[in-house]
Amino acid sequence: MSELNGTQKAVRWHPPSYDVRVDDIPIPQGHSGVHDVHICGHEFIGEVVALGSSFGAESAKGRPPLYSRLEVGHKVVSPFTVNCGECSVCRLGYTARCTGSLLFGSPLLNGGQAQYVRVPKAGGTLFDLSEPSTWASSMTETEKEKALSNLSDSSLLMLADILPTGVFAATQAINHPKVQPFITGKPWPLCFSSAPVPEGLQILDEDKVFTVAIVGLGPVGVCAAVSLLDIVSTRKIPFRIIAIDPNGSRREKMKAVYGAIDEDGKAGGEFVVVSVDEAKQKSKEWTHGVGCTAVLEVVGNTSALELAYDLVRAFGVITSVGVHQQRPLPFTGGNAYDKNVSLDFGRCPARAMFPPAFDLLVKRQDIFGTIGQPASLIDKIVDFGQAEESYRAFDKGEVGKVLFDPWK
Ligand SMILES: [Zn+2]
Repeated sequence: MSELNGTQKAVRWHPPSYDVRVDDIPIPQGHSGVHDVHICGHEFIGEVVALGSSFGAESAKGRPPLYSRLEVGHKVVSPFTVNCGECSVCRLGYTARCTGSLLFGSPLLNGGQAQYVRVPKAGGTLFDLSEPSTWASSMTETEKEKALSNLSDSSLLMLADILPTGVFAATQAINHPKVQPFITGKPWPLCFSSAPVPEGLQILDEDKVFTVAIVGLGPVGVCAAVSLLDIVSTRKIPFRIIAIDPNGSRREKMKAVYGAIDEDGKAGGEFVVVSVDEAKQKSKEWTHGVGCTAVLEVVGNTSALELAYDLVRAFGVITSVGVHQQRPLPFTGGNAYDKNVSLDFGRCPARAMFPPAFDLLVKRQDIFGTIGQPASLIDKIVDFGQAEESYRAFDKGEVGKVLFDPWK
């Protein structure tokens, strides 16, 4: 082929109904840009204004509960991907990789920054805030309803992506097999067994300190830190956490968030917020050069992953929720072998993670319930008239997270 950047012929289906034509269109150029106009935004909450024909029908029997119970007027939050809730992948809780999954705000599925949003497979996808009995929780039904009445819309919006993704990163790390000696206080592989530890083989208190690095302190990184602090303090796991970002304003935000969490929410360990250079020194100092047991990589580029590899100990785990588009990986199979490192990559199954994320949202309203404060994850709420300017300012790093109210 002589030319790969001209046009090509393709058979295309034109909306709204059967209208097939052969068109001259640009040859695709990888991820070089977006060609189709589409609605932005993959985080949204709203009120149901209409239901498809699958809802409330006789055919809803045996399907996810929302097909029978969702009603016009219910308040819902959507995960950032569509998931059917009915395939084996969804049933197992791996909803981000449902075989019918689509990402909101992409050329394949319009996003949520609009007054009205169509949600495909809505009975499997949506989280029904008006019907608390449709989800599991550590709270009773009464507690759930009381909590819901106190949550602002801006707070609930965090459930769409950033909070479940942060909880997901922390959950993957704490439940990883490599971390179990710290949880059980028993050495590998006795940590998986109910057998007692023989005399003389006990691990020492200093071995039990769970040292974690968090690489990247954007909104998801902050949520991961808050979730991890909640887990280790609740479960009384001794910890040391190194929160890392090259950007000074992100570090200040993380410090303010940590400062706003009450003592119970961070008891039992140490927490520092540092730059990239300071991180390696801190890890060395705290672990006598061994490295961090878990590294949460919340950025999604090669340098973040390289730092994660440098910081992780032998027999450690890197759990990466950043969206990686660069290649190759900054380490080889040999490097991975040499550190016995476990690598967890990928998108959060947000629909499956809603219940624990909701519980944390309620518990940590000191952080998630505020707007425009030093410890807030949301800077402001604006109308669509300020949307274009807000995108420009965000792109230049002049503002943090800005919410749009399409009805303002
Ligand atoms: Zn599915």
